[in-house]
Amino acid sequence: MVTTSLRPKESPSPAYICPMDRSCTYLQLAGNLLQIDPGLLIILEQPRKVVTVSIPVKLDSGEVQVLAGHRVQHSNVLGPYKGGTRYHPSVTLQEVSALAMLMTWKCALLGIPYGGAKGGIAIDPSHYSVGELERITRRYTTELIKDIGPAVDIPAPDMGTSSREMAWMMDTYSMNVGHAVPGVVTGKPLSIGGSKGREMATGRGVMITVREALLEQGQTLAGARVAIQGFGNVGSSAALLMHEEGAKILAVSDVNGGLFAPEGLDIPAVKLYAQQNNRSIVGFPGGVAVSNAELLTLPCDVLIPAALEDQITEENCDRVQAKIVAEAANAPVTLIADQMLEARGIEVLPDILTNAGGVVVSYLEWVQGQSYVFWDEERVNREMEGLMVQAYHRVSELAKAREVSLRLAAYMLGVGRVAQALSDRGLYP
Ligand code: NAD
Repeated sequence: MVTTSLRPKESPSPAYICPMDRSCTYLQLAGNLLQIDPGLLIILEQPRKVVTVSIPVKLDSGEVQVLAGHRVQHSNVLGPYKGGTRYHPSVTLQEVSALAMLMTWKCALLGIPYGGAKGGIAIDPSHYSVGELERITRRYTTELIKDIGPAVDIPAPDMGTSSREMAWMMDTYSMNVGHAVPGVVTGKPLSIGGSKGREMATGRGVMITVREALLEQGQTLAGARVAIQGFGNVGSSAALLMHEEGAKILAVSDVNGGLFAPEGLDIPAVKLYAQQNNRSIVGFPGGVAVSNAELLTLPCDVLIPAALEDQITEENCDRVQAKIVAEAANAPVTLIADQMLEARGIEVLPDILTNAGGVVVSYLEWVQGQSYVFWDEERVNREMEGLMVQAYHRVSELAKAREVSLRLAAYMLGVGRVAQALSDRGLYP
């Protein structure tokens, strides 16, 4: 059993299963198929360490606010904890815990020597000045100083954070220990040891996974009709790369609403518009307005939720008209919706595979940083593509061989690797 406090106090509907329980359900299903010792599964259901810190911050107005910051470290059986830092109003300890567990399976599935972690602060970053965000990030990092480090736990960007926040985290950690430690974070600026290709990496991994899935269905990305919810780092990169491959991006959206063009949107122009309009696509002249709810049910070949958890639910999944749902966001499809989509023959490309491009290039950033030899972007992209294509085909082959969904196959590969390592290492003491 997972600690009760990691579950939400109120569920949106009686049938709702929170992301933490969902991850545990898939863990159990994969564990049963692999005949893993139940004692190992009980260990893997629990995060190893849960940290919540107070972050007092003086706002520009002089007012003092105290924020709660979380860092959940799920498993370090295979290597240092690794996972993003999220700034979003919906951040809760249970959400961060579920996302930390997903990171463990994702790293193991991709064969990367990391464990899983996640962090977050429940704020809307657009409501804070740059100076306030810097003070929040630096205090959060200081509070976590004993819990992070290049051999301990390595944060990265996630929703609401970027290379800017990673630079502040790296600087704060370095100032506290007395020397520069670039390896404490990934996704940092190139000037302090970031990797070329990191910014687009998660979106590139999404493009590669969708491309491979379409090819297996006898279709190419060129001409494929795609709808994407969320136009931040992941959604906009995936949109741009797919557009370059000839896909028609019918619709995109952000938190304020969406755009639709039946002949396909001019994605470079939408991206430029968002850069010039406070990251929002709303008001772009080359498309008609569409709501986030409508976007999810548009007729298309590929639907890509690239924003938040719990977007495709038992309430709307019978109206999804895509052939493939590619989980660029973490946990965007609820447990019941996942089963309903599978029953309708709609293929779901699971998050732990689809959005793994970011952590793969984070790992490549770490490899380059260790040797102080930095690669050109072409090499970074090639190495990442090799790992992503290999992972996709291993998942697809196992799914066919065991007659299970791609998600269950991905869990079997990820969970299996962690369980084997845990069993070989033995239980301390
Ligand atoms: P981001 O902050 O750069 O962008 C998020 C986008 O989602 C924005 O366009 C925002 O307006 C939109 N959005 C927010 N709330 C919304 C809502 N309620 N409805 C519709 N749209 C909404 O974040 P990101 O880094 O692109 O991350 C997106 C997802 O991808 C998250 O689930 C994250 O965990 C996952 N992910 C990110 C990375 C990475 O490298 N950044 C890696 C793996 C997974």
